[in-house]
Amino acid sequence: MTSSNSSGDGSKGGDSLASLLKTMGGDDCDRPACDDTKSALSAALRRMDRRRGGGGDGGDAFTEKSAADAPNRYRDCPPTRDDIGASTWLFLHSMAAWYPNKPTREDKQLMSAFMNALAKFYPCSWCASDFQKNVQLSPPRTETREDLCIWLCEQHNIVNEKLGKPLFHCSMKNLDERWRKSSDSNCQK
Ligand SMILES: Cc1cc2nc3c(=O)[nH]c(=O)nc-3n(C[C@H](O)[C@H](O)[C@H](O)COP(=O)(O)OP(=O)(O)OC[C@H]3O[C@@H](n4cnc5c(N)ncnc54)[C@H](O)[C@@H]3O)c2cc1C
Repeated sequence: MTSSNSSGDGSKGGDSLASLLKTMGGDDCDRPACDDTKSALSAALRRMDRRRGGGGDGGDAFTEKSAADAPNRYRDCPPTRDDIGASTWLFLHSMAAWYPNKPTREDKQLMSAFMNALAKFYPCSWCASDFQKNVQLSPPRTETREDLCIWLCEQHNIVNEKLGKPLFHCSMKNLDERWRKSSDSNCQK
């Protein structure tokens, strides 16, 4: 498990180094996507910010800064844990945003199977393990587009909370604005 695991930030006072190392994987970290220094440092910073009572998202600030300071990262490097996470959420929320309002029985079965397969094969072992538990506790709701969008938003918020990230308000208005059709002129193509 990681710092970003279900046991919360797990660090107090002087054990921030141990906590930091924990975020960088551990015995169960068997993939390159686990051994991700940038993601680990971002998470550690966010937790420190939260412990200090900061409302802001120190991790994102760090990520942006470190990204700017980092030597040019070769574009064909394997993805980091954060790269995979952001791309996966982008795909999942987009897929949910365009899921049918009235799915067929086959649509519903395939979507449930897809989410369960994702939870099994997600390429960060501790993220996958937590996601499997969450999907067991709250199985995919695939009856309608709205059901799926809200279920996914809740799942994403569970991870956000674990990582100390801001929560998203899970209304269809917000979700469609973010993932389907934005009213922001900057988003118009
Ligand atoms: C299934 C799954 C499990 C994961 N588990 C872990 C884990 O255990 N540990 C770990 O370190 N990382 C995990 N990740 C990755 C993590 O969730 C983030 O993707 C990663 O930290 C990068 O975060 P980000 O700041 O780029 O924004 P992301 O969290 O990737 O979000 C991308 C965008 O989605 C929007 N958004 C945010 N919240 C919501 C919401 N609730 N509903 C709809 N839209 C929203 C925002 O506009 C945001 O900018 C997981 C990812 C997935 C897909």
